[in-house]
Amino acid sequence: MIIILMGAPGVGKGTQSVALSKWLKIPHIALGDILRKNVLEQTKIGKEAEDFMKNGLLVPDEVIIEVVNSRIQEDDCEKGFILDGFPRTITQAEDLEKLLGSEGKKATAVFNIEAEYKHLLERIIGRRVCKNCGATYHVLHHKSQNGRHCDVCGEELVQRKDDTEETLNNRIKEYEEQTKPLIGFYEERGLLITINAEDIKENITERILKHLGESV
Ligand code: AMP
Repeated sequence: MIIILMGAPGVGKGTQSVALSKWLKIPHIALGDILRKNVLEQTKIGKEAEDFMKNGLLVPDEVIIEVVNSRIQEDDCEKGFILDGFPRTITQAEDLEKLLGSEGKKATAVFNIEAEYKHLLERIIGRRVCKNCGATYHVLHHKSQNGRHCDVCGEELVQRKDDTEETLNNRIKEYEEQTKPLIGFYEERGLLITINAEDIKENITERILKHLGESV
């Protein structure tokens, strides 16, 4: 099963991907997480991506495709995977189609998760992430037990550098201009399912799973 989650920044793609990955027992591939790790470790990819990410701009397609291509070849992806934050441009979507096609595979479904701007802003500004494992919290809606450290691994929680109102505006502009055209792309292929994100996260997961034919 190959699932693609798309939607504006802060809509909850990461949260849904984690829940779906647990249920479906297939890995969750979050491009943003992979890139942040590369930036932290100052790899070649990290150095190429850093400035784009800091400014809320999309990292060039060639860099992204290289990352995805090597990740989906790994053994744990054999039975399928969940793509979170990829594809984000038509070129990326076309390249993914070719990559999968060359192995006789295709995407199972593309979920387009939607929410109003004010909700995106609230989620982004209040979001805190674990420095170590990337687990996500929110200062109001999903606090860790002591509010400062991760419940999973105990490491400190921090705010992502790009989780500011100013950067969010660039990220939303990139989404509108570059990623939204994917709605038509996947509609034409009969793969698109639109999900309203303005509900509690458990209900959203359930709705996605039902679309996938899972009995929840
Ligand atoms: P995210 O964690 O998904 O919000 O991604 C954080 C940042 O990583 C984005 O603002 C982009 O700079 C970069 N990024 C993540 N995924 C992609 C992608 N598919 N294409 C280009 N840039 C990406």
